[in-house]
Amino acid sequence: MKLHTFKIGGVHPAENKIAAGKPIENLPLPEEVVLPVSQHIGAPATPVVKKGDKVKRGDRVADAGGFVSAPIHTPISGTVVKIDTARTPQGMPVQAIYIKSDEADRAADAEAMANREKPARTEEEIAALDGKAIIDIIKNAGIVGLGGATFPAHVKLSPPPGSKAEIVIINAAECEPCLSCDDMLMRENPREIVKGVELLMRAAGVNRSVIAIENNKPEAIAALSEAASSVAGIEVMPMKVKYPQGGEKQLIEAVIGKEVPSGGLPIATGAIVQNVATAYAVYRAVVLDEPLMDRVLTLHDGETGRNLRVALGTILATLVPGKEPEKIILGGPMMGRTASTLQTPMIKGTSGILLDSRYAHRRPMENCIRCGKCTEACPMGLEPFLISTLSRLQDWDEAEQQKIANCIECGSCSYICPASRPILDFIRIGKGKVMAAMRARAATAKA
Ligand code: SF4
Ligand code: SF4
Repeated sequence: MKLHTFKIGGVHPAENKIAAGKPIENLPLPEEVVLPVSQHIGAPATPVVKKGDKVKRGDRVADAGGFVSAPIHTPISGTVVKIDTARTPQGMPVQAIYIKSDEADRAADAEAMANREKPARTEEEIAALDGKAIIDIIKNAGIVGLGGATFPAHVKLSPPPGSKAEIVIINAAECEPCLSCDDMLMRENPREIVKGVELLMRAAGVNRSVIAIENNKPEAIAALSEAASSVAGIEVMPMKVKYPQGGEKQLIEAVIGKEVPSGGLPIATGAIVQNVATAYAVYRAVVLDEPLMDRVLTLHDGETGRNLRVALGTILATLVPGKEPEKIILGGPMMGRTASTLQTPMIKGTSGILLDSRYAHRRPMENCIRCGKCTEACPMGLEPFLISTLSRLQDWDEAEQQKIANCIECGSCSYICPASRPILDFIRIGKGKVMAAMRARAATAKA
């Protein structure tokens, strides 16, 4: 069987997917939640509740703060106890809505949870929805890219004038080591995911979709192939196991053989990419009329791995009782971000909690030996050592010339470097500076 993949770069980190095959555990709703208003790329949401307000599970508690933004819904019924600052895992202050339930709230939520799989729309009602109506439901449900990027889903489904979508690519690669939440979602909910994909195709106005899955997930490939077999236009495509197969640009190239132009949007290739968990959330929003209130994540501590469905706003420490671990990574080991504490709420983009001590320490940094391995590994055709050095030297102009903004922060360069240089750390700093300068120039040019 021919396995599709991207052409340049890539690495093969140990998979360590010890949670693969572990059924998804539906955790009980927490008694209180902390809901940051910024859980997505774009403008923060604006609270529409105040201290003392009573809210019901599923209520919107914050409105989208602009077109590129998403509303927030509460997963528990209760009382708004305060709107105050919370800390992100990296220690940054963000506005957040604090909600606490009482016994009556919990009884009402238990009943709602028992009925949560009941369709709220009939087949006929769903069939009557046009693309715009589906996009509106997705937008109002607060759905964002659940692969970790958290880009609001409705924005991708509304291409700018002059662009036209031809295909919806479902990113089910799950190429990050240690994570298995998408794998288990596919094994357990293939029909719901296929329904979500159909809805995404209608929303985008296309008649073709490819669900791209790395070939190390045979059960997921079989389950989705079976579920999609009777649906016109949906193909399940096994992909070569190579990191970062799930990078948006890499996936587009692997599936349709087109390259996203430098500085351009993926839609320039005619492709709209959505994560497989996003497709499942679309099913829940359209068929069950349920906004995004929880997600599945993988909890991996090196010894054991679990896949948990967790309500948004749950304090992560409640999932990991005991003292704070030595090192916390939220997401996978390649692209995840180090967190300083678990006393922080789980948000839409939290795909994993990684506590594995194997990823806790870096080897001591040595001098670059000019081996060129980082350049070979880079899937964006960059020279990681060069742009990382330019960033360290604060030569932002040259870093921009060397296309630092094209870095997708996949971490392949840092992973492969025999001298253990923190290449990506410097690139991230430089990329932030260069992109801020580029945005400022664009704003001045517009004014
Ligand atoms: S992190 Fe950036 S520079 Fe490094 S390999 Fe990935 S895309 Fe290339
Ligand atoms: S991989 Fe590391 S040692 Fe080799 S050229 Fe790149 S930075 Fe230098």
